[in-house]
Amino acid sequence: MIILVLNSGSSSVKYQLLEMQDKTLLASGLVERIGQSGSAYKHERLPGTDTSQVFSNEQDIPDHSTALDLVVKLITGEQTGVIKDVSSINGIGHRIVHGGEDFNTPILVDDDVVEGIRAQIPLAPLHNPGGLAGIETAKRLMPGIPNVAVFDTAFHQTMPPEAYRMAIPAELYSELKIRRYGFHGTSHLYVAKQCAATLGQTLEQTSCITVHLGNGCSMAAVKQGRCVDTSMGLTPLAGLVMGTRSGDVDPALHAFLTDKKGYSIQDIDNLLNKKSGLLGLCGDNDMRDIHARIDKGDSDAELALKIFCRRVTQYIGQYMAILDKTQAICFTAGVGENDERVRELSCATLSGLGVVLDKKRNQEVRRGEICEISSPESRVKVLVIPTNEELEIATQTAQVLSSS
Ligand code: ADP
Repeated sequence: MIILVLNSGSSSVKYQLLEMQDKTLLASGLVERIGQSGSAYKHERLPGTDTSQVFSNEQDIPDHSTALDLVVKLITGEQTGVIKDVSSINGIGHRIVHGGEDFNTPILVDDDVVEGIRAQIPLAPLHNPGGLAGIETAKRLMPGIPNVAVFDTAFHQTMPPEAYRMAIPAELYSELKIRRYGFHGTSHLYVAKQCAATLGQTLEQTSCITVHLGNGCSMAAVKQGRCVDTSMGLTPLAGLVMGTRSGDVDPALHAFLTDKKGYSIQDIDNLLNKKSGLLGLCGDNDMRDIHARIDKGDSDAELALKIFCRRVTQYIGQYMAILDKTQAICFTAGVGENDERVRELSCATLSGLGVVLDKKRNQEVRRGEICEISSPESRVKVLVIPTNEELEIATQTAQVLSSS
C-alpha cells in the first residue's frame, strides 16, 4: 500500500510518500513560501538510500493548488519520480492541527468531515485553513484517491475533564468550548508506542511521560496507553518554554501590559507567540546557538537554558504525581533527541523520584536510534526515542483505509 502524507501549513506543504509494506520512504520534500516572494521546493527521491537524489528550485508558487500540482509532478516525474502516476497512491493522509472535541480518531474525509474541520477554524486560525486547502486541492488533483484526516489533538481527547477543564466560568466551556486540547498528539502517540515496544509490552500496559522538545515543545502523561494530561492548552502557547513561545505565564500579564505599555491584545498575542521563549530571554531560539554562547561564557544564554529545563523538570514531577506508576520518560524531537545537556539538566534533580541518568549513556546516544539513558538503578527508565509523525500519519491512514 502506498500512502502520500501531506502536512499543509499556511505557507508551506511538507510531504512524504511511503510504501507501507516495509515502511520504506520513497520520496519526501517541502514546498515553502507559498504565495510569497522566494517560493521554492526541495524534493528528495529515495531518501536514505545509496541512490538518493535531491532536486530543488526557486520558482513562482502562488497558491496551495500550484504547490500540490508541483508535488504530483515531482513524485511522478521521469527523473524525480518514484511512481508512474498518482493512481499508484492508495490513500492520502493529511495532518490536521485542530479536531476540537469532534474528532478523537483519524477519519476518512467526506463533506461532513470537511465541514467539521472548517468549524474548528476559530480554535486554530493559523493552521486549519492550510490543512483544508491541502484536502480540497488533493480531492481536485487526485480524484478517486481516498483522503484521511489525522488530528494533532486526537490523542489527547482521552484526558478526563479534571485535566482539560479550566477554572473559569463554566458557560465559557459550554458556549465556546474553551478547554485544554493539547497538540503534537501524533508524535506523543508514536513515541508512546515505541516506548511500549522497547519495554516489551503492549501500549495498554504502558504508562510513560513523553517529552517532545522541538521548536514547539509539549509533554504528555500517558497512563496505560491513554493520554491523561498534556502541557499545551486551548492553543499551542501553553506549557513548556519553547523557541519563541512563552509557555505558561501569569494570566494577569495581559491586563498588566495593557495598563503599563498600552499594548493591544494582538500585540500581546504576538509577543507571547513570536518574541518570547528562548528568543525573548536571550535573543536566540535555536538550542545549538544557545550552547555555543554558553560555551563562551554568556550568562543570558545560560539563564535561558536553565529556565527551559526547569520547566521540563517541573512538568515531569507533575506528571509523575498523577500517574500511578511511571515506567519511562521519553525524550523526543529536535532538542529532545539531540541535546544531551538539556536531558541532563532536566533530570538533574529527579533522583528523589527514582529518575537517575547514566551520564555516559546520555552522551553516547546514537542519532536516529532508540537509546536507554538511565542508569541500571533508576526506578524509571529514561529513553531517547526519535519521533516520526509522518510515519504515524501514514500508519493511521493505512489502518483507516483497511478498515473502511
Ligand atoms: P519542529 O518543532 O519544527 O518540528 P524540530 O523537532 O525539528 O522542530 O526541532 C528543531 C529544533 O531542534 C531546532 O530549533 C534546534 O533548537 C534543535 N536542535 C536540532 N539539532 C540540535 C542539536 N544537535 N543540538 C541541540 N538542539 C538541536
